[in-house]
Amino acid sequence: MEALALGELLVDLVSPDPDLPLAAARSFTKAPGGAPANVAVGLQRLGLRSGFCGCVGQDPFGAGLAAVLAAEGVDLRGLRRHPTARTTLAFVATRADGLKDIAFWRHPGADAQLSPQDLDPAWFTGLRLFHCCSVSLSREPARAATIAAARLARQAGALVSFDPNWRPALWDEAGAAPAQFAALLALSDVVKVADEELAVVCGTTDLDLALARLLAAGPRLAVITRGAAGAVAATATQRAAAAGFAVEAVDTLGAGDAFVAALLSRLVGRVLESLTAAELADLLRYANAAGALATLQVGALPALPTTAAVLTFLEHRKAC
Ligand code: ADP
Repeated sequence: MEALALGELLVDLVSPDPDLPLAAARSFTKAPGGAPANVAVGLQRLGLRSGFCGCVGQDPFGAGLAAVLAAEGVDLRGLRRHPTARTTLAFVATRADGLKDIAFWRHPGADAQLSPQDLDPAWFTGLRLFHCCSVSLSREPARAATIAAARLARQAGALVSFDPNWRPALWDEAGAAPAQFAALLALSDVVKVADEELAVVCGTTDLDLALARLLAAGPRLAVITRGAAGAVAATATQRAAAAGFAVEAVDTLGAGDAFVAALLSRLVGRVLESLTAAELADLLRYANAAGALATLQVGALPALPTTAAVLTFLEHRKAC
């Protein structure tokens, strides 16, 4: 296993009516979800031998999710099936303004039951990349498991990546989030934040100030995604930006995960400090292409692109 993503694997139940809030939604389409699970699949499609660590219930939804990841070739030694907690569900409606209306069915939900004892140090031997998000930080024992896994990954010399992926409804004590973010940022080499989360995660919406604050918190590479506008990134000495690609987006769910998987797939084995501004811009362009491709299909996981799809897209765009 070269890469390991840890966190939530859940069922997204997506309302197909774009302008109905959840309270008025009439039907839901079932889709596999969970940002870290998307990244595990994305990395696998981009050529890294990837594994996923998390917890689902011993119910049909858990079995279905495990089957989806197994069919992608993702290593599931780290997937626990909890005997009593139910597989977590997330109901999703897309609002007219493009934002998501999300309600999690997680009381407490199997995803939060991952515990430090579930981690096997053997998974981390020779690991090159570790990625996690913040849903697993919102509750114990998953919080302790996430921190322990990030530490093990660091000790193993893996590149550690963190996507704060802010879901306020999942935090019983919202005031607890900043300390948990700080703990994970201190263990991370790479952080990616979506611009709509900047105010909460960085205390500012100014891109350069946010990048500086992220770098000061621990990571050696900070990236901010900006939806259709693309992305900006900085290391201690370099800064780069890349415009997004104009596409006919049908569903942006999972675009950030496709972006992260593509970025990380290209960072493995690189010395972050030696990246030039031009190399950074090139990485962002590659990740923007993956993000744009992910918006062309409904659902997050089915839309995650392969290396060939990203390269073909970039070739085509160069020719235009
Ligand atoms: P998240 O999905 O985490 O909210 P963003 O919305 O910022 O993150 O999207 C992540 C990346 O996906 C962007 O940086 C961009 O590369 C790509 N992307 C997202 N939405 C679009 C869009 N409408 N058109 C083109 N690219 C997009």
